[in-house]
Amino acid sequence: MAIRVLDRAVASLIAAGEVVERPASVAKELIENALDAGATRVAVEVKGGGTALLRVADNGCGIPEAEVPLAFQRHATSKIHVPEDLHEIRTLGFRGEALPSIAAVAEVTVLTRTPDETAGTYLSLACGRLLEQGHRGCPVGTIITVRNLFAEVPARAKFLRSQATEVGHISNLLTQYALAYPEVQFTLQVEGREVFRSPGSGELKDALTAVYGIDLVQSMLPVRSDAEDASEAGQSRPVKVTGFVSSPAVHRATRGQLSFFVNRRWVQNRMLVYATEEAYQGLLMSGRHPIGVLNVELSPSGVDVNIHPAKSEVKFLNERLVFAAVQRAVRATVLSKASVPTIMPRPAAAERQTVEQARMAVFRAGGWDGGALATRQPYREQDNTFDPSPRLPILRILGQISSTYVIAEGPDGMYLIDQHTAHERVIYDRILRQQMQQGLESQGLLEPLPVEVPLHQVRAIERALPELADLGFSVERFGERTYLVRAVPAVIGTGDVADTFLSIAESVSTPSSKEDRLTRLAAVLACHGAVRAGQTLSMDEMKALLRDLEATELPLTCPHGRPTMIHLSASQLEREFGRR
Ligand code: ADP
Ligand code: MG
Repeated sequence: MAIRVLDRAVASLIAAGEVVERPASVAKELIENALDAGATRVAVEVKGGGTALLRVADNGCGIPEAEVPLAFQRHATSKIHVPEDLHEIRTLGFRGEALPSIAAVAEVTVLTRTPDETAGTYLSLACGRLLEQGHRGCPVGTIITVRNLFAEVPARAKFLRSQATEVGHISNLLTQYALAYPEVQFTLQVEGREVFRSPGSGELKDALTAVYGIDLVQSMLPVRSDAEDASEAGQSRPVKVTGFVSSPAVHRATRGQLSFFVNRRWVQNRMLVYATEEAYQGLLMSGRHPIGVLNVELSPSGVDVNIHPAKSEVKFLNERLVFAAVQRAVRATVLSKASVPTIMPRPAAAERQTVEQARMAVFRAGGWDGGALATRQPYREQDNTFDPSPRLPILRILGQISSTYVIAEGPDGMYLIDQHTAHERVIYDRILRQQMQQGLESQGLLEPLPVEVPLHQVRAIERALPELADLGFSVERFGERTYLVRAVPAVIGTGDVADTFLSIAESVSTPSSKEDRLTRLAAVLACHGAVRAGQTLSMDEMKALLRDLEATELPLTCPHGRPTMIHLSASQLEREFGRR
């Protein structure tokens, strides 16, 4: 075929393919337009999974009558004018592509009025062509209705999922914007039924409650970093981080509940996820993820939003600075609120329980539900300063239970300390401290021990050899998948060398930075070096354990994030025994 320039209709369909992938992408563009128009109310209506009907009504500034047809022309925008504007984008839209793209693949009507017009402007289009234009009464703002999406584009329609899935995407989108714009009231109606409403009070906490429910929100912690804090010497681009993150006691199996906004634009960005998860280092069990909603504010010139068709990815000019700001802000928040989990029966049920039942609820097998039952004891409520190292209460040791838990009395009731996790924390801190100061003491084996590792982990071990040496290991490759271990860190002793080495191989087998590897290795060593459950301890050993735990930076959790102790308060005891 000879080369020809495509006609306008084909060209718009191709361009539309980039912007309008599914109903949720239409919703996203229309919501962004409403927000750019300064709306304080955005109502979204969906029928037939968004393909039969998708309507977004706002109370924003409206489009002047003369400009309405223009809004549907490609590259027609009121938001930027000259090339330099692209370096400093302050609006969500800027390409002038959304409305023409949507109109290319659906039937669209718009009804809009500006504050100084008396009548609204009505316009309808199908497959990009103008059908009707006229006047109709309407409130100030804009209502855009999109019908029969992709009806004429079967190739695209084929890729859509079930209506429920498409509605799921739209409602996820809406809740994200509700979190980014707490001052805007969002509503979502599906098949005529309201399924979501944000209060629009201006308080992020209220929006969060609408999205996640009051129980979860009460356990979330506010993040607020001052712009100055995050700026580096000589750097004139401060980064501000605000939002909410979960306390280490609340976590999820996926990253689905971590949302990020950059200058209030909802973005997908792996670096931001990583920075946030880094902040939980040593506080969350591996494989668990925090919940969070974070807005990163920086000068628009410090971020390029023009790198993705749907504008959902951004590129930072100084990634390192943003990473550090997020990591630091979140770390400060979670450290400030680390606390001892308290044993409590589930409140509503407890009211109706006999004492015996209540006790059973508390002591139920596995009933030490540190996660769900943990209560927060903020060190300083309503105050953004924090005590960087949560201290242990003064404890008097009473004895040991099941050769596994140390039982102690504190200023407010009873404490049970898990000897293994507590010792893990002690060793972990010791390893990292010594490694930084003088390197770890190593202990030679009488005979080098060959350890066979899974083949797919060999590369990771090779990469981790310098850190292993830093920690006091002496190992060398011996055959394709065998290593000879000649010396081990003195902290772990020469007992279970093969087992320890295999755990090490496992722990470094996912890609990680050098620093990350070191902390992971330290966690493995701590676990292997720590006193086991089932080991009887003398009074002196228990005292030494608590004294050492007290000296650690984060005495309340082990390096994997499990609690080192749980607390049954004096008032709780009174309640359990029916004294109150
Ligand atoms: P962009 O948002 O990139 O400018 P769009 O195609 O989404 O491009 O919209 C084109 C123009 O139409 C916008 O620049 C704006 O001036 C106007 N517009 C679109 N939607 C609205 C709305 N809801 N309220 C006011 N003006 C709107
Ligand atoms: Mg737009």
